[in-house]
Amino acid sequence: DYCFSTQISHLALDIGGTLIKLVYFSPNGDNSQDGSIVVGNGCSVVKGRLCFAKFETRKIDDCLDFIRFNILQHSGVQHPNGTTRDKFPVKEKLGIVFDKEDEMHSLVSGVNFLLKTVPREAFTYLDGQKEFVQIDHNDLYPYLLVNIGSGVSMIKVDGDGKYERISGTSLGGGTFLGLGKLLTKCKSFDELLELSHQGNNRVIDMLVGDIYGGTDYSKIGLSSTAIASSFGKAISDGKELEDYQPEDVARSLLRMISNNIGQIAYLNALRFGLKRIFFGGFFIRGLEYTMDTISVAVHFWSRGEAKAMFLRHEGFLGALGAFTSYKD
Ligand code: ADP
Repeated sequence: DYCFSTQISHLALDIGGTLIKLVYFSPNGDNSQDGSIVVGNGCSVVKGRLCFAKFETRKIDDCLDFIRFNILQHSGVQHPNGTTRDKFPVKEKLGIVFDKEDEMHSLVSGVNFLLKTVPREAFTYLDGQKEFVQIDHNDLYPYLLVNIGSGVSMIKVDGDGKYERISGTSLGGGTFLGLGKLLTKCKSFDELLELSHQGNNRVIDMLVGDIYGGTDYSKIGLSSTAIASSFGKAISDGKELEDYQPEDVARSLLRMISNNIGQIAYLNALRFGLKRIFFGGFFIRGLEYTMDTISVAVHFWSRGEAKAMFLRHEGFLGALGAFTSYKD
């Protein structure tokens, strides 16, 4: 159990390219809510829970209705925070004013808050094993934060409010979802994930073994099962998209995006001598295959030197940062 103080009449909104994330305090929230965080246990501050909700950005009205009927009517929120953008009619529709917080600042504040305050937040994922990591508060910085949202930001964090965006890539969660929808005719992210779960990437990816007659290329340290070329088998004469199963396409796509991010993250960690890399953003969704691919990429390229770590509240980093930076 742990303790921090918060404002009851307070909520934060993070309006992203794909998803809106909402963090709010509920004095009578129960533990039925996925990932909710206990507030005020064992100390004198108000008790309750930090609750989380997400909505598709294109369905902002669902989010505003949720705020109106589930939060405002109960708690009398007057002064929310958010990384909200001008084009969203939040003020007109809800009749409340949002303080605007900087997006990147909120992201970093959210991660620092989680790592310092919430137990069992960070974990590694290797060989199918999730292992929680106890982070020493005095030895937290520097670290690399890789936020995989629609796009990907890589931020070197040196302390509270001390950070620099050092890199990024446009091949992110939006690419996975966008290309996935086009290639598989899936309608949603969940459907695409479910498909990728059933697929086999070796059907479409060209492996080292496919090039070297089923054997390793041991001289340069490549095993026969390493991917030589993502989607490389699709160059075979006469093959059309319809000749492949959508689940195999989804699997290759997920592997390609995750692998690429893992590799770019590692290269940036190497650039600045960072040993710890935290991965966040809604793309990960706690999915084992994604975390495994990223972890293996970081482990492989760093020869075990750098560690990929994941966060339980991965998707709500910016919203949490906006929530916790609230000042009267
Ligand atoms: P942003 O702030 O850019 O919207 P997020 O961290 O919210 O970024 O991540 C958005 C990405 O998360 C999407 O591009 C998609 O890959 C993935 N995602 C996870 N769950 C969903 C969902 N239910 N609907 C749409 N995308 C989702």
